[in-house]
Amino acid sequence: MNKSCRVILPAGLILFSLAASALPARRSAAKAVGTPQTQAASSQAAPPPARDERLWKKAQEIHRKAFVVDGHNDITEIMADTGYDLGTPSVGKYHTDLARLGQSGITGQFFSVYIDRKYATSGGSARRALDLIDVIYRAAEKYPNQLTMAYSTADIARAKKQKKVGALLGIEGGHAIENSLPALRNFYRLGVRYMTLTHNNTNDWADSCCDEAKHNGLSDFGKEVVREMNRLGMFVDVSHVSDKTMSDVLDVSTAPVIASHSSARALANHKRNIPDELLRRIAKNGGVVMVNFYPAFIDERVRVAGLERDARLKAQRDALREQFKNEPERLEEELKKLNAANPLPVTPLSVLIDHLDHIAKVAGVEHVGLGSDFDGVPSLPVGMEDVAHLSNITYELLRRGYSERDVMKILGGNLMRAFAEVERVARVSTRTVSGEGSTLRLEPAKK
Ligand SMILES: [Zn+2]
Repeated sequence: MNKSCRVILPAGLILFSLAASALPARRSAAKAVGTPQTQAASSQAAPPPARDERLWKKAQEIHRKAFVVDGHNDITEIMADTGYDLGTPSVGKYHTDLARLGQSGITGQFFSVYIDRKYATSGGSARRALDLIDVIYRAAEKYPNQLTMAYSTADIARAKKQKKVGALLGIEGGHAIENSLPALRNFYRLGVRYMTLTHNNTNDWADSCCDEAKHNGLSDFGKEVVREMNRLGMFVDVSHVSDKTMSDVLDVSTAPVIASHSSARALANHKRNIPDELLRRIAKNGGVVMVNFYPAFIDERVRVAGLERDARLKAQRDALREQFKNEPERLEEELKKLNAANPLPVTPLSVLIDHLDHIAKVAGVEHVGLGSDFDGVPSLPVGMEDVAHLSNITYELLRRGYSERDVMKILGGNLMRAFAEVERVARVSTRTVSGEGSTLRLEPAKK
């Protein structure tokens, strides 16, 4: 196992201290509890300077018309661990709140049910998933005029009609099912519509991008998990998995897959990103790669500078950790100060658009989407500071010559198409009884 670079705070908060580029063990990127270091913070969508007003107006119209679906938002964990109420404005603190979700134009938001790797060791993964799922249900109950639970393409369409945000659930980290297909089925019944097979930890049946390879991809049980997800109508999410796991999933899955928050490796050489060869295979599968916005994943300059900074500051960080080992909040503050004194390059929005453009060129414009990772990352490109800025993507795509039709596909049309196919595959499955033909549970792994 890779050593985690987090410090667990007493209140259950998690602190990340290293540059995002050196994160074999941390979450999708870094977790930004408290104060995301966005390069600016505003509740208003700030268009790029000297914008073309006619095009901007057109972008807003298209954005309003489109199904906008985001594959990954991590505010869930913050809500669960700090008691944060989504209805409370949090500009400058978090990337997401109810008002800004409203401004974002999002019609389908996958809220991440992120299960930290520590639960794979300590136990309690499934319980943690249940707790996080409850957080989203309670938010939807509390704010029924803005938020509505969504389980299907029809529900997303209904939410759009009602001018609400459709709240979708995606589990991040397959260890959540505790090696039990019955548990997987119950998560489906609770409304979970994707599961990321691994986080940055290899589990008992699938290898992660960023951990030891133990199964040469997917084990036999892992393949059974994929088949069962196909039967249920749950997206198999290949973000975070190893290239071999992704390849095995594409061999086995009879329904489209998604990468809920992954970018293109040809542009930034991070293991979390997807190589061209696998982008083409996801296209063949009918799937969608939903691009992650995190600078350390998408901007090669930031990735390299982050690695250099990690090496340069290692001794200082270790000393701080030792000095403030009993004062986690002070430690967080000191580490932030150190990072602030050693800033990484700033990432322009064009770098993010380059990833959308690359995947559209390599895999086809039918296979690209958005997977922000808001509130799971400590920094974002300029012009994409929070969820309210999403229409800047629409504008930039139009500026690059994308047609209205193609922009609408990227914003969410592709995800809707793939989701409809996942639903169809489930409907026509010849396995009609839950668990028919499926192994029930994997023997507990010998640790
Ligand atoms: Zn992630």
